[in-house]
Amino acid sequence: MSVNRIDEILRLDRLIEKLDPSGQPRIEITFAPYETLPERLGVLSSSFNPITNAHLSMALNARSEFSLGGVMFLLTKVNVDKELFGATLTDRILMLHLVARMFDRIWVGISSHGRFIDKVKAFRARYPHLHLFFIVGYDTLVRIFDPKYYEDPDREIEELFNEAEFIAFNRGLKTVEDVIQFMEHPSRSKFADKVHAVEIPEDLAYISSTYARERIASGDLDSYSIPDEIKGFLERTELYTDSPAYELRKELVGYLKSVYSTPPEGVKGDVDVAVKLMAVNSHIGKRLKEIIRSGAMPLQPRRRKVEGESIVGDFDLTCPPIDEEDALKETRRCLYCPSAPCKEGCPLRVSVNRILSLIAEGEIMEAYLTLRSDNPLFGITSFLCQDELYCGGSCFLGRLMGQGCSIRSREIFKFLWRWGGENSDKIPPPFRMNMYPKPIKVAVVGSGPAGMAAAWRLAERGFTVTVFEKENHPGGIPYWETPRFRFPAEQVIDNLVRQLGRMGVEFKLGIRIGREGEITLNELLDEGYSWIFLATGLTVAKKLGIPGEEESGVISSKELFRMERDLGREEMIRRFRGKRVIVTEGGNTAMDTARTLLRYGARPTVVYWRERPRSLKKEYEAAKAEGVQFMFLTKPVQIKRDQGRIVMKAVKMKEGEEPLPGSDFEIQADAVINAIGAIPDFRDEDLIVDERGFVRVEPGNLTTS
Ligand code: SF4
Repeated sequence: MSVNRIDEILRLDRLIEKLDPSGQPRIEITFAPYETLPERLGVLSSSFNPITNAHLSMALNARSEFSLGGVMFLLTKVNVDKELFGATLTDRILMLHLVARMFDRIWVGISSHGRFIDKVKAFRARYPHLHLFFIVGYDTLVRIFDPKYYEDPDREIEELFNEAEFIAFNRGLKTVEDVIQFMEHPSRSKFADKVHAVEIPEDLAYISSTYARERIASGDLDSYSIPDEIKGFLERTELYTDSPAYELRKELVGYLKSVYSTPPEGVKGDVDVAVKLMAVNSHIGKRLKEIIRSGAMPLQPRRRKVEGESIVGDFDLTCPPIDEEDALKETRRCLYCPSAPCKEGCPLRVSVNRILSLIAEGEIMEAYLTLRSDNPLFGITSFLCQDELYCGGSCFLGRLMGQGCSIRSREIFKFLWRWGGENSDKIPPPFRMNMYPKPIKVAVVGSGPAGMAAAWRLAERGFTVTVFEKENHPGGIPYWETPRFRFPAEQVIDNLVRQLGRMGVEFKLGIRIGREGEITLNELLDEGYSWIFLATGLTVAKKLGIPGEEESGVISSKELFRMERDLGREEMIRRFRGKRVIVTEGGNTAMDTARTLLRYGARPTVVYWRERPRSLKKEYEAAKAEGVQFMFLTKPVQIKRDQGRIVMKAVKMKEGEEPLPGSDFEIQADAVINAIGAIPDFRDEDLIVDERGFVRVEPGNLTTS
């Protein structure tokens, strides 16, 4: 793993933070070449600011001369004598990792306490079997006998030498003979057999971290004093030099810590690239510095569930629109990249960078109109778009410093949607061209997002548009099948329908088009519609394909959400409270379904055949945090009814999609919700559909047969 990876840096940072120098002594291993520590372990404890070739030589010599199973470089969080300066503890560990990776049987760890007696206690508490050999230089050996480091010197020094042996090296002017003489003193001679004097070459004995820092500061990175493995790191970070780059790196890490409240997994942003950008006196460098100094993002979802708080009946939005102040703060984090990768990442090519810069300049009306012109349905997408796959996933800041740092454009668009609602009397109506001398009628079949977007664009261009909808309310899936905690369907859809009405679009509700409906496509053409736009969507739930799925109590997510529309939330709570419900599949719909069931008071368990869900990670985490249970690597194979309850037979799956022989078992439940997805179901006599039910169209112009 790269030492510049943000996730690795933050992981180490948190680990160090957790070590408490005033609590019980504790050691954390940060790098381990093997799972278990060797029985005979050498421990070289130092401040490693930075690690030098003297450290390395002492470790390797001790390992071979005393047949040690391995050596641990042990950093201490609090050094008994020194204030922390130079490299951060995290960077010292990263440098140690670089060296440890290149040599066999080297571990790296960090201790909460600086005194040797405390380190021994920490090792004993966690690894009682170890035979410890502390690897020290002459100066450290002298300090070990200094009574000022002990509360009860005689007892504690005795205890220390009972628990560990010492391999002591010549350092500076002090030779191996000095080590031996030091131990011959009557006050220490009883410990002499526990101290082994060993020699390293004289030139190495003179190298200290202070000397190494001086060489680095003078630009001598080729110096013999530091291991080759850390030279690249020193070059990139400009550590121990006069350059401001290292301070920027520290600021950046501080900022990232405030952004990522838990260490992010797999965040590939590269700290040093960001620092390099800042160090260059460019527009982006300056902006990055401003962003970092202005602190973390203000945008967090509304806190939903604290310990013990019931979620039943709480259908409020989990991420309501932010206010103007937060929207401004967030837009000011934007770099307004001229190349606008966010715009490129948006399938609708929304001018994200321009809209954000307009808001930052206080031109909110202009920002609103630009967004509406780029994407008339932004009310829907600002609540429902999977932005991490599009603008958020492409954001330069996110690519530089991890997804968590991406500009949350979707939240800003949500603010604009709310602002539009509050200022509707001031907003000019959508533009409509009147370019045709006599009306050209277009029928749009279906009033979901595709139908409404088509109706808007057609009306803008002067067509006379009628939208046919088989339901008694427009809106398609966002209106009928989206959880209320995610999307304020009534406000968004009704507002959109009002705006379309102002553009002359007519809605005909409760009219089913097609072979089994009130009117066929040919009849529509006969009625004078020149064009028909089919936007009928995915209307039928897919089947699980297992015996028993027709049993009562087995329904689809679609049916569940529609039931809520028909019966109301109170009735859903009455029906589901306390019920055990199995939700099959592991996508976003399954997470929405399970979270909705929690709000009805049910006890949902998501059963999914893979090892992990295929939903967005944040959706899975939100579901888990709210109390949804999960059974992974579990595949339903049969459903039956037994004494009024549902019994689902399932098998455990091996990773790689095979059922484990003989692993079948039964799960009892009150209901099963199939959240596997949906397929189209539109039939008309003259249309050709493929085997999945999709209407066949010409690839070039998307016209039907
Ligand atoms: S890529 Fe990110 S930082 Fe750059 S303009 Fe777009 S939203 Fe702003």
